[in-house]
Formats: sequence, C-alpha cells, structure tokens
Amino acid sequence: MTKTIRRVESAAAAPARVLAFHRVAPPTAGRRNLTVTADSFSEQMQVLFRTAFVDAQIDAIASHDRRLHRRGRHHFAITFDDGYVDNLTTALPILEQNDLPVTVFISTAFIGKPYFWWDRLDELTSNADQRSTLVNAACSLQLLAEQQEDELAVATPDQINRALERRLERLVLEERNDLLDELSQLTGCKPLDSSARPLNESELVRLASHPLVTIGCHGHRHLKLGQSDRADAAKDILHSKQALAAVLGPRQHTFAYPHGSHDKTSVSLVKEAGFSLAFTTDSRPVSILDSKWRLPRIATADIGGEEFARRRRLPI
Ligand SMILES: [Zn+2]
Repeated sequence: MTKTIRRVESAAAAPARVLAFHRVAPPTAGRRNLTVTADSFSEQMQVLFRTAFVDAQIDAIASHDRRLHRRGRHHFAITFDDGYVDNLTTALPILEQNDLPVTVFISTAFIGKPYFWWDRLDELTSNADQRSTLVNAACSLQLLAEQQEDELAVATPDQINRALERRLERLVLEERNDLLDELSQLTGCKPLDSSARPLNESELVRLASHPLVTIGCHGHRHLKLGQSDRADAAKDILHSKQALAAVLGPRQHTFAYPHGSHDKTSVSLVKEAGFSLAFTTDSRPVSILDSKWRLPRIATADIGGEEFARRRRLPI
C-alpha cells in the first residue's frame, strides 16, 4: 500500500480541516480527558472514508489548493499529539480499515517512559475523597507553597490540579516524576493503566514505518514554548528534532506546538530549526490567510459518527 490521497465526491465545498486527536481509549478520570473511544473513532473515520478527501501529505494543507475547493470536496487531515501507545495499538488498525493517512506528533522526552506526567497528575487529583490527603502530601513536599491556606481548604480537585501543574511544569522531567511518585505513595494512588503510556522506541519505529503514518515533532519536554525563554525554547526544539532523527533517521518534519503555545520567538525558532510548517490548537478550519507556521487544528470530541458528521457539516 502506498501513501494515497483519498478522493470521494461530496456535496459542497468546504475549507481544509485538520483534526487533533490524542488517544483512542476508554474515557479517563481527571481534568483532561484526551480520549475518544474506539467505537466513536471508528464511526468518525467511517464518515471521513465515505465523504471526505483526507490528505496524506499534511504539507498540502498549507498550500491552500483551491482546486480541491472547486471540486467540491471536504478536505481533511488527521493528526495525533504526544505519542501514546494506543495510537499504534488501537487507532492504527481503525485507520487501516478505512485507508486513512495520519500524522503523529511525538514529544520525544517521553519515548519509552512509563507515563506522561500530566496523566499521573490527573489520576492523583481526580479522586475527590482523597482531596485532603493529597493537599497534605503536596504541602509536605512544598508543592503548594504559593497557595494560601484558606484557598486550599476550599479548592476543587481541578484547582489543586492546576496549582500542582504550574509548580511541576517548571521542573526537569526526572525531578517531576520523582515528586509524582512520592505523591502517589503518600496518597496511595494506584498506578496508571499501562495502556496510557507513551510509545517506546521500537513501537515508534513500527508506527513510523507504516505506509499510512507520517511522524511529526511535538517538542522534547512538551513545554509551553510561547511562555519559555528563548534559550530554553531553542534547546527544546532542536533536541526534539535530534531525538527523532536518532530513532527514525534524518528527515524533514512538521511541528505541532505543545499546548498550542507559541509566540514570535518560538515561531522563528521552529522555522530556523528546519521544520516545514507548524500547527497550533486554535480550533477552527484552515483559512487561506493562515501562515503555515500557525495552522489551526480542530479539537476532537468523543462523539459518534452522526454527531461528527453534523458538526463538520459532512453528508451522512
Ligand atoms: Zn501535547
């Protein structure tokens, strides 16, 4: 099978839309639910198979090829962020069934790690019964020193999650994971389901070698690049490019800003690093006025095929 461009006639012209998925898995607890169930994903992909033009060459999205619009086809691209193992084990078989191409953006520091730290944090804070145990444990580790005692007494699990996130995201990966492990021990939080883990190196190679898959870059440490200082952002962007090259060999990649966070500096750093284009998380269709360094992507939801078609104005 070669990387193909699927062309299926549909009723009306529409702008290009880039869908941003994270995981195909059962719903998870916690502040971020980044999952779409396998059933929903399968239904959504069947709708795209029947009605849309799904681009294998994601760069074509930025070329604003007006011929596609004149032909009256719905133009889509499918992307996944972060590099979860279920992209290979669950999403890819469904994409194969529908012959749909995908770009997977990898945060390289997490390759082979047991979890993404934000999932561990969500697991810790999602159990409301343990709220006071968690607050006490976090205070004993000096993780909530910036919060007032009276605020903490009434803080919701989501507010505690955000406060811990702000503190933890400033740390280096190992220090952050050690603290999360300590917090888990102190609160008796069960380990994360291993299906929520990042891809390891051999799984990434398998995924990348599939004819329907293109790998893109999602930074190294998943930093908010728009809020990082120049030296930190430059180091992270280059590191991610080198880390992907070390596993997959040198090739030109596209980039997706972690959290969608970018500013003038990070945009120019991504350009200088030799990426071909970059995506934000601005949830709307691609406009002909969009810069190829700030291309929007549409946030996805755990909805069935009919609702997906309705929201994307696709024929059922
Ligand atoms: Zn991400």
